This record gives sequence, C-alpha cells and structure tokens, in this order.
Amino acid sequence: MGNCVSNVRCSDPCTVSSQLEMEEALRLYELNKDSELIIHVFPCVPEKPGMPCPGEDKSIYRRGARRWRKLYYASGHAFQAKRFNRRAHCAICTDRIWGLGRQGYKCINCKLLVHKKCHKLVTVECGRQMIQVRNRERLVDEKSNIVSVKFARSSRDTGKSASSLGLVDFDLLRVIGRGSYAKVLLVRLKKTERIYAMKVVKKELVNDDEDIDWVQTEKHVFEQASNHPFLVGLHSCFQTESRLFFVIEYVNGGDLMFHMQRQRKLPEEHARFYSAEISLALNYLHERGIIYRDLKLDNVLLESEGHIKLTDYGMCKEGLRPGDTTSTFCGTPNYIAPEILRGEDYGFSVDWWALGVLMFEMMAGRSPFDIVGSSDNPDQNTEDYLFQVILEKQIRIPRSLSVKAASVLKGFLNKEPKERLGCHPQTGFADIMGHPFFRNVDWDLMEQKQVVPPFKPNISGEFGLDNFDAQFTNEPIQLTPDDDDAVKKIDQSEFEGFEYINPLLMSAEECV
Ligand code: ATP
Ligand code: MG
Repeated sequence: MGNCVSNVRCSDPCTVSSQLEMEEALRLYELNKDSELIIHVFPCVPEKPGMPCPGEDKSIYRRGARRWRKLYYASGHAFQAKRFNRRAHCAICTDRIWGLGRQGYKCINCKLLVHKKCHKLVTVECGRQMIQVRNRERLVDEKSNIVSVKFARSSRDTGKSASSLGLVDFDLLRVIGRGSYAKVLLVRLKKTERIYAMKVVKKELVNDDEDIDWVQTEKHVFEQASNHPFLVGLHSCFQTESRLFFVIEYVNGGDLMFHMQRQRKLPEEHARFYSAEISLALNYLHERGIIYRDLKLDNVLLESEGHIKLTDYGMCKEGLRPGDTTSTFCGTPNYIAPEILRGEDYGFSVDWWALGVLMFEMMAGRSPFDIVGSSDNPDQNTEDYLFQVILEKQIRIPRSLSVKAASVLKGFLNKEPKERLGCHPQTGFADIMGHPFFRNVDWDLMEQKQVVPPFKPNISGEFGLDNFDAQFTNEPIQLTPDDDDAVKKIDQSEFEGFEYINPLLMSAEECV
C-alpha cells in the first residue's frame, strides 16, 4: 500500500506494511473482541525494520523526571517543607528551626515559619496577623557551616585540596544526552586523555531552599556507586559560578530507550538478563538505605560488552533504615508507583514497581499505561488521567508472553506494596531471586559480570557516539555564556565543598 503503518496495537504493537497484513490485524481484532485497535500511520517507510520512520516524533517516549511540591494544609495555611539557611524561629514553640534536612515548614502564602512537628498546632488563620518571628537576619557563618557539614565528607575523605579540577582541564567533545535537570557531555580529561561523561546542572535549578538536598544526595550516591559494577561511578565534581559538574564514567553503548526505539520489543531472555542486573543494582542501593526512585529506560545504560549501568541519582532518597519511609511526590509520571500517587508514605517498594513497568516495556514493546498522547480525547491526554489509570486500571499482560513472564510482571505490578514481589521486609530480594522467571539465573555469576550479555552494542562512530540520539549529538557543544543577572541571584555559599576527586581516580578499564 505504499505507506508504512507502524504500531498497530491490540494487545501488542506490531508493524504492518501491506494491505494483507492490515486486513489480518482487523480480522484478529474482531476475532479476539479486543477493546481497541490503535493504528499509528506514518507516511513513509523506515530505513530498517524496527527503526522509527522519518518524521516519527520520538520525543513522545523520553519523559523527564519531576518533583512535585507537596503542600501540608493547616488552618488555611499551605505549608511547604523547607531547609532553613537563616536563623528562623518556630511561630508555635518559638524554638529555633535548625538542623539538617527539611526541618521546617513555611506557608507559601503568608510565609509563616513553623517546625514540621508543630504545624498541626497552628491556630492563626493564614493571612491574619503573623506571629512575630524573631531575628530572621542571615547568619552567614552558621549557614556555611551547614553546607560544609553536608558537602565536607568527600574532601575529608580524599584529603585532597578542593577545586583541583575545572572546566579548562577538559576538552568538551559532544552533547550525548539531556534530561529534565541536566545536560550530559562527552569530555576528555586533557592530562590523561581519558574519556568521561560530564553531567552539567545549572545552579539556578538547584538554588532553592528546598531543592539543594538532591545535589548532595546525587553526589553521595555517585560516590557509593563507584564500588558497584552496575552503577555509574564518579570521577570528580567541580563548579563554576553558574553550573555544577559531575564527571562520571562514560558508558558508550547508549541507553535502553535508544535500543528499545530500534528493537521495539525484546525476547524474554534479554529482558531477564537486563532485569536481573538491574535488580542487583537496586538491591545494592537498598542495602545502603537508598531508594533510586527514577528507574526508566533512559536511565539504564549499556556498556561496551552489553552489561547494564544505572545512571542519574538525582531522584534518590538516602538515609533510610529498614522499615523507614518517605513521602516526596516525585519520579517520572509513567513509572510512579500507586502508593506515591495515593499520597502514602513509601519505601523501597517503589523501585520494584518501576522495574515491573520497565520489564513490561521491554517484553511488550509498550508501556502498561500507554494512553497519554495517544488518545483523541483531550481529557485522556493529561497527567491526571495517566495517574488515574496507574491507580485503577487492571493491567492486561499480552497473551504472547510466557506464563513465567506474566507472573513476574503481575508480581512487580501489584498495586499494593505490601503484597508486591520484592517488598517483603525480610525475604524481599530472595523472593525475586527465587521467582520462576529468574529460576535459571545464577545470581553470583551475574553479580560478577560473568554472564554473557545477550546483545553487544555496536560501538561505531567515534567513541560509540552512534549509540546516542542524533537529536543530542548534533547539538552545539558550547555551554551558553553565564547570564549575569541569573548568576547574581545564586547563593554561592550553598555549594561550598562541592568539589571532589575520587581517590581511586578510576582506572582506564573502568571507563568503558
Ligand atoms: P532525568 O530527566 O531523568 O532526571 P537528568 O536530567 O537527571 O534526567 P541524566 O538522566 O543523568 O539527566 O542524563 C540524561 C541522559 O544522558 C541519559 O538518559 C543518558 O542517555 C545520557 N547519560 C547520562 N549519563 C551517562 C553516562 N555516564 N554515559 C553515557 N550517557 C549518559
Ligand atoms: Mg535521566
């Protein structure tokens, strides 16, 4: 028929390229009494089978991570958690609001400051006369103390003087990725000629009382990640007036999003390998009290042999002891677990849910909640509708999947975290390892990178750059010049002590 009709979807997506195949799809749709048959029509033929058609909008698949600001209501106030750098006093008990973490709440309307623990006791209505808050002027010394307590660890650990690396020490070679917070560059350290990835974050995005925490968390997790084969480790950190730089291992096989866009869906054997390695990486983080919170195809990278590496620790929550919970509403919409959407306190369970979504995507070639952006009804294209679907829709597993695959997906995609696979407080990870889907996996060999990956990325183009989207690699490499007004607004003392050099200065082999 000349045109390429891609992604005919009943229970599974498939590509239809002739009238005969189209008629067969319609016949099966009638026969199976499927509730829907979605057809994406592209007016052209893809370069190779499975490749996107010219003009096909791939941005519909990459979605950035987000943090929503949680509001706590009491007596008409809308409180937001804040970390106070200033000497602030609680309007209720008058004690100082102090300490690390988000110790206090501030009303977004009347600016009333209270301890988290005191906010329910507020009786003065919002907008009424504010209780005098004593001595709110800034105490620079105390403030920089806080920040250095937070960032000091690494400089103490290494014993190196800070700021021994800077932008001038690197050749910037190419843009390789972009997320909602950062731009990622391919760079070369001039002195050693070694290649790294450099994650660049604008300070304006961070320079907010509430948001600073994620930068130091990302750095702490990067530091710990350097000890695990399936996590991207850190080489160094430095800053300029306007930006923060994380120099990290460059992983040259591209991300799983890039590969899924070409393969459409993976054989179960491949999905088993990737999900087993991802499970080991998640379990390593969990054992260290870290929830990853942003598992998705674009954060799973493939190194040259085909093993996975998780990157992007900007959404992590650290410091959880077994049984502890947290409550921030954050993540990437399609992967957010129902307990987060229900506003419940949650723990490591959210990562196992996200793994279920990712495994579904790998094996079915589509998201279990694949509705947003694909419906003609504008009411069904909203984030709220997606959240409603995640909360309420019973997930239909494609019939083409094996019984074991269906069972592992149902296990991880259980909307009730207490019953979800991997979430039992004592036997969680053992339950995953013992699941029939993973029965043939030798977990010890797997963790030692001794299992041969099912797919070896084709490392072509200089540095394997062909494995990165041309949308990024064609971008100009220069960082935009600093905007003086924006820089003036940045409180630089927030970032004191950010500089870091990994004491092991990663060996060449590690920088795959
Ligand atoms: P998000 O929107 O998920 O929060 P982000 O802004 O935090 O994203 P990253 O996910 O860290 O940014 O990086 C964006 C992209 O850059 C990734 O999806 C990946 O394709 C690429 N990338 C990140 N780190 C590396 C690395 N170490 N090696 C190669 N590519 C990388
Ligand atoms: Mg990311």
